[in-house]
Amino acid sequence: MNPLKLSERLATVASFIEKGAVMADIGSDHAYLPCHLVRAGAIERAVAGEVAKGPYESAVANVAKEGLSEVITVRLANGLAAIRKEDEVDAVTIAGMGGTLIAGILEDGKARLEGVKRIIAQPNIHAIAIRSWCQDNGWTLVDERILKEDDKIYEVLVLERGEAAFSEVELLVGPFLMAEKSLVFMEKWTRELEEWKRVLRAIETAGHSEDAEKKKVQLQAKIEMVGKVLSN
Ligand code: SAM
Repeated sequence: MNPLKLSERLATVASFIEKGAVMADIGSDHAYLPCHLVRAGAIERAVAGEVAKGPYESAVANVAKEGLSEVITVRLANGLAAIRKEDEVDAVTIAGMGGTLIAGILEDGKARLEGVKRIIAQPNIHAIAIRSWCQDNGWTLVDERILKEDDKIYEVLVLERGEAAFSEVELLVGPFLMAEKSLVFMEKWTRELEEWKRVLRAIETAGHSEDAEKKKVQLQAKIEMVGKVLSN
């Protein structure tokens, strides 16, 4: 991949960056996303944050190779610690990690979100953790996307400041995605449903225990909840 031609997944994240935004890309790896957005003229400057030395060094090298070291600051930092007040960051992207990790990064660094107006999160799994963080922290969802690339399904969540009160099923599958019910959405949740049913059968054939009974009840509730979404 090169920064001028993003994957569909990263291109979807990029599409939610408003023109002229100052972005911080957290967990930037090669810094493809900020390089692409600057090259495309969508943004003038950015911060690329990376916690791991190898990816940090490849971000530094890529930014230099693209001749963008003046406008993209690469920092070796844990989560939102990459953002400094003087950066005047107003948009944050966190892509390509699990939802629980992304929610943890947002929770640990929320003091650094002061001037931030929009967060674009792309969890590979467990988007529910981000939706829960969002409604517990004075943010709301303004859009969502679901896409399939190389046989993997990804969700993209766009957060802005506001009040949210999601239902249990909205937290799990996403309010916008549930309203749209795209083919990819149907595929994702049909697959999940099949997996839950398989686990349920396995629990039922194994012996009784208090834990197994609890798990069974939880799975049955999820199967019923998501089953209704798929059949409506
Ligand atoms: N964002 C890029 C993308 O979507 O293609 C890279 C995704 S890569 C799978 C995840 C990156 O996040 C890794 O380079 C990892 O080192 C970095 N990362 C994980 N936890 C982090 C944290 N707490 N702070 C900063 N970076 C982190």
